[in-house]
Amino acid sequence: MRTYDLIVIGGGLVGGAVAWGAARLGASVALLDEGDVAFRAARGNFGLVWVQSKGAGMPPYAHWTRRSAELWPELAGSLAEATGVDVGLRQNGGLAFCFSEAEYQAREDLIARMHNESGGSGARMIGRAELRAMVPGIGDGVVGAAFCPADGHANPLKLLRSLQSGLAGFGGDYLPGRTVDAIDYDGGFTVRVGAERFLAKRVVIAAGLGSRRLAPMVGLSMPVSPLKGQIVVTERLAPLLDYATHVIRQTDEGSVMMGDSQEDVGFDIRTTTPIMRDIAARNLAALPALRDANVVRVWAALRVMTPDGCPIYEQSATHPGAFSATCHSGVTLAGAHALALAPAVMAGALPASLAAFNAGRFDVPQA
Ligand SMILES: Cc1cc2nc3c(=O)[nH]c(=O)nc-3n(C[C@H](O)[C@H](O)[C@H](O)COP(=O)(O)OP(=O)(O)OC[C@H]3O[C@@H](n4cnc5c(N)ncnc54)[C@H](O)[C@@H]3O)c2cc1C
Repeated sequence: MRTYDLIVIGGGLVGGAVAWGAARLGASVALLDEGDVAFRAARGNFGLVWVQSKGAGMPPYAHWTRRSAELWPELAGSLAEATGVDVGLRQNGGLAFCFSEAEYQAREDLIARMHNESGGSGARMIGRAELRAMVPGIGDGVVGAAFCPADGHANPLKLLRSLQSGLAGFGGDYLPGRTVDAIDYDGGFTVRVGAERFLAKRVVIAAGLGSRRLAPMVGLSMPVSPLKGQIVVTERLAPLLDYATHVIRQTDEGSVMMGDSQEDVGFDIRTTTPIMRDIAARNLAALPALRDANVVRVWAALRVMTPDGCPIYEQSATHPGAFSATCHSGVTLAGAHALALAPAVMAGALPASLAAFNAGRFDVPQA
């Protein structure tokens, strides 16, 4: 039996960031994680710090995303200082390519709508000439793009690794191979893993797709579902793309990652040739120089999706000290999770700015 200030359940990017952020403040923290056998979005994602289209229709999400992007340099710097790991943050702006006039118009409308709803992210439309100056190898089929200076990308595996080792550096315990069975409450929390018991006054449920089962144990609701995405990776290439885009990016190591499929197929992580062919074709149209590149890896992974695609953060009304935390933008929101959400959890209350992320919002359409 071990006692902590905070137990975080789920060692993906969300749980890792919250645990690291709390330990950085001096809290004793246990990060309980099922481990590599779990469906784990944190190990299969695209690595974007993506601002420009996040929060359409939900201004608090747009504001939270922008705040996270602003906090990202501090997160990356702190991790590098504490762990020696450079997470490869590059935040020089992101491009959303438009392959037709209709796509261009739809993007322009989205930017205008988000500007009216939430003040905008600084995104603007750029035409072909400006785009060609930014991406000299751009294909003829791309008519323009949306450019947002706040967008960027990072290496998500290095981020996950540095959050875990950074936690250990602050005296916290990263405990893989611990699948939480149950959570008991008697004013404090007893988290059960087989015969082991972990005690704390505060618990954060950040178990990705495992959260749906755990949340009701402490009076919370996390109705998350899987949404598959497939990713295609080339061999390492000479620099050809200086900006992150929503469908293709060149990593800090030179590989080119492609993919933005969204497949509602349950817990199925098989890759499929037709989807990979579509991904490759679309990106060849964007960057014809990829024609001769060899594909060295492909994979599929499951996003952790809420019914409206926006995050859930909430403190339990019936089990004070229990918090939920989930989203489908764990890279983008890592700055906010580590440097804003974790301090709020340790202070015992979420700020009013996060009230909109209460899972009770899903009851309204049902009612
Ligand atoms: C294809 C794809 C592309 C993506 N691209 C991006 C992107 O470009 N930018 C971005 O910001 N986000 C992206 N994401 C989303 C991002 O990866 C996720 O938001 C993030 O990883 C979610 O982290 P998580 O910690 O909630 O979940 P996960 O990473 O799934 O981690 C959940 C953890 O909980 C643990 N767990 C589950 N049940 C239990 C239990 N009972 N007890 C203990 N531990 C448990 C598991 O072991 C796992 O480690 C992408 C996701 C996918 C799939």
